[in-house]
Amino acid sequence: MSYTVAKGNQRVDPNQVAELGKTPEGVVDLRSDTVTRPTPEMRRAMAEAEVGDDVYGEDPTVNRLEKRAAEIFGKEAGLFVPTGCMGNLIAIKVWTHHGDEVICEERSHVNLYELASMSAIAGCMPRVTRGEDGILTWKQIEAVIRPKIYYDSQTALVCLENTSNMAGGTVYPTAQVQDICDHAHALGLKVHLDGARIFNAATALGDNVAQMTRSVDSVMFCLSKGLGAPVGSMIAGAHAFIEKGRVYRKMFGGGMRQAGVIAAAGLVALEESPARLGIDQENAKRLAEGIAAIRGLRIDPKKVRSNIVIFDCSKTGKTAVELCDVLHPYGVWAQDTGLHSVRLVTHCDVDRGSIERALVVLQDVVAKTQGAGA
Ligand SMILES: *Cc1c(COP(=O)(O)O)cnc(C)c1O
Repeated sequence: MSYTVAKGNQRVDPNQVAELGKTPEGVVDLRSDTVTRPTPEMRRAMAEAEVGDDVYGEDPTVNRLEKRAAEIFGKEAGLFVPTGCMGNLIAIKVWTHHGDEVICEERSHVNLYELASMSAIAGCMPRVTRGEDGILTWKQIEAVIRPKIYYDSQTALVCLENTSNMAGGTVYPTAQVQDICDHAHALGLKVHLDGARIFNAATALGDNVAQMTRSVDSVMFCLSKGLGAPVGSMIAGAHAFIEKGRVYRKMFGGGMRQAGVIAAAGLVALEESPARLGIDQENAKRLAEGIAAIRGLRIDPKKVRSNIVIFDCSKTGKTAVELCDVLHPYGVWAQDTGLHSVRLVTHCDVDRGSIERALVVLQDVVAKTQGAGA
C-alpha cells in the first residue's frame, strides 16, 4: 500500500525551498500558518530555557507555560501537548466512553484531518452536521442529539471549531458559543472547543479568549500556527479535566522530558504574538479583495474574517491542484482544499509586499490559463 504524504503542490523538495528562499523575491508560502519559523527571540528563549523532566512534573518552563495558558484562558489548569491533534484527542477521550457520539461540523478538523482517531482510539462516532460557513447553531446541534433510548448510541460531546478552518477562517459570535454551552450543559453534554486559531478569532472579534471560552469545558489551541512557535499546542480546562488529560497524554505517547526547550518558544509566542495577528487579518482582507477582482476567481471578501482565504477557481478551467501547481514555480505557494477550492493563509512570515506580489502572480497565471482557452 502506498500513500501520498501530502497532496498537490505540498510535495516540496526541501532543497528547492532553500534555493527559492535565496532569490531576492523569495517564496510567498501561503499554504498554511504552520510554516512559520521561530523568531530570534524564540530561539534565544529556547537556548536559555531552564529544563527538567516534565513527566515528573519538574520542567519549570513547561510549568510556567501551562500556568500562563490557564491564566490567559481563565481556566484552572493547562497542559502542554505535542500537537493539536493530540490535544483534541485527549479532550475527546476524557469526555466520552467507547460507543458515544461526538457532534461536530462536517468540515471540522476532528472529523476530516485527525485520521479518525476519535473512532480508532477513543472509540467514538463523529455525528456530523452542517453549519452555515462552518458555524453551528444550537438548533443544528439539537437536531442530531440522540434520544436517550438504550438501543441508540449516546451523544456525549459537542466539538466546536473557532475559527473554522475549512469554511475559510469564519468566526463564532461569542454569544452563540455561550448559547450552545448553556443548552448542551442543561442536557448533560460537554463542549470542547478546537481553538487551533482561537487568537485569530479573538482578533476578528476584538474580544479576549477568556471571555470567548468562558463556558466551554475544554479548549485546545495551537502555539505552532499563527503564534509562530515551532512546536506545540495547549489544552486548558478544570483541574479534574487536566489531571485525566495528563494520563491520556502519556498513554498516547505525548509525555515529553526536557520539553522546556520547546515550551520556551511557546511562552514567547503566547505573550508576544496575539498582538500582531491584526496584520495577518488585514493581509487576508487585501488578498480576498484582490482575488475578487481577478476574472475567473470567485470569493466573497466580506466573509473573510481572519487569516484564511478560500477561493473558487472552477471558472479557470483548472482544478485547485492544477492551479496550485502552476503557481508554484512563481514562488507563490497555495493549498488545494477541494476540487475547485484553493486556500491561502496569511501569517507572520508574509508581509504586505509579498501579498501584493502573490496577487500579481495570481492575476497573471489565471489570465494566461484563460488566454490559452483552457
Ligand atoms: C492545525 C489544526 C489542528 C491541529 O493540528 P496539529 O497539526 O496536530 O497541531 C486542529 N484543529 C484545527 C482546526 C487545525 O487547523
